[in-house]
Amino acid sequence: MAILAFTPEKIEQYEFPVYRVVIDPGHGGVSLQNKEKHGDKFDLVTGKYLDEFAEGASLRGIYERDIVFSIGTKVMRLMDMCAPEGDFEAFRKILSRYTDRTVRRIYIDTMISREDSVPFDQASKMKDPNAPYRLYDYPDAEGEIQKGRISKINEFRPHLVVSLHLAKSAPSDYKGLNGIIIPPYNVLKNGLINLQKGGKGKINDYGILKSWFKHSVKVPYRLAYFRDCAQYFTGYSLKKNYSTDYSDYNGYKYNMVNWIYMDPHDWHIAARDHKPDTQYSDDYMTYREEGPFRDREKSVYEAYRRGDSFKNFGGDNYFATYEIIKYILHSLDHRGVNGKDKIPGKPFVSTWSVPLLVNAISAYIELGYLDRKWDRDVLLQRQDEIAEGVAVGIYSLLAGMGDIKGDFRHKPSGSKIDFDKYKMQDDRTYFDIVVD
Ligand SMILES: [Zn+2]
Repeated sequence: MAILAFTPEKIEQYEFPVYRVVIDPGHGGVSLQNKEKHGDKFDLVTGKYLDEFAEGASLRGIYERDIVFSIGTKVMRLMDMCAPEGDFEAFRKILSRYTDRTVRRIYIDTMISREDSVPFDQASKMKDPNAPYRLYDYPDAEGEIQKGRISKINEFRPHLVVSLHLAKSAPSDYKGLNGIIIPPYNVLKNGLINLQKGGKGKINDYGILKSWFKHSVKVPYRLAYFRDCAQYFTGYSLKKNYSTDYSDYNGYKYNMVNWIYMDPHDWHIAARDHKPDTQYSDDYMTYREEGPFRDREKSVYEAYRRGDSFKNFGGDNYFATYEIIKYILHSLDHRGVNGKDKIPGKPFVSTWSVPLLVNAISAYIELGYLDRKWDRDVLLQRQDEIAEGVAVGIYSLLAGMGDIKGDFRHKPSGSKIDFDKYKMQDDRTYFDIVVD
């Protein structure tokens, strides 16, 4: 009996037998003129696509969608070594460049969230060229709702989703590689309460507002923050004077994906009237929190993922994002590729779709900016090094690496995510409880 209790099988029961990871290279489709047919974010209330399809950044014939897909497939090749039937000894050799410790064999199932990008010259001849790339669910030719990428990610019930992006340019205070981070629920709720009192209340934000994402440098940070808060709750944005902007409707994102947190069937019929004192009110003054998504948002598991206040901001999403960024910088540095301003830079904070609408830990990275020469060269010529940093980072987040070798300036912590705290009842975890 005593021997049995210490067999590896017995010990392994306390850990995930197989981790599930999604590599999510951004974009892939095309932004065509006809939004009615080719857009994304299909809204059942209006029966329309609310956004044009985001085809991603480009500069002088260099396309974000191609670079992030190429890096994503290289990461997949490395992750396959960690699959149950994979060549883990080969992966061990890579890990030995980062740590002297004996690394643990873990099993990782990895999926990529999209196929190769649709060629621009063929897209205009296709009926629905964006079908495989849409983030949100969408109607097919028969009006049947099909699963978008976020729904397919959730179907896989991943523990970790790694989204890879880059941009054309960034504000000058954004250096190096930047994380894309969603705020804690309480930060959004705080904004709603502040708005309901006129929007003049003091915000003790510990610096988060200076990282809030703005569509233009002219938008004040407070307005960008309040706009996201209003939209997150009501679906409507704000005018400059903080009154509701009824011309800027953004829909109910949590009802645009197929998961257990959407409102009951036919919710869109009730939503059409935007009645005051309901969850579909279009005015933040009369908005009321209701429904399974709001309960999820207030849960302790979301606080683990995102933090629970201005002060305790970021949670495991932030940790995962910046660990991977540090591993990428470290991997490049191993090959002598570095620069003094190539640092883990400050995040872009907003209510981003993928991190908001998955239960997985979300690492979401802007790998660089096409209008910066160093970034451009690295993104085009050092994809193997970037991919290695991502893959080693993923392993480190799941298994832990311990002390990282060398005296690199932005050394990763090498700590694993504490997945135990996401355990719920009957051996199921928060990551399992996302689709039926
Ligand atoms: Zn992008």
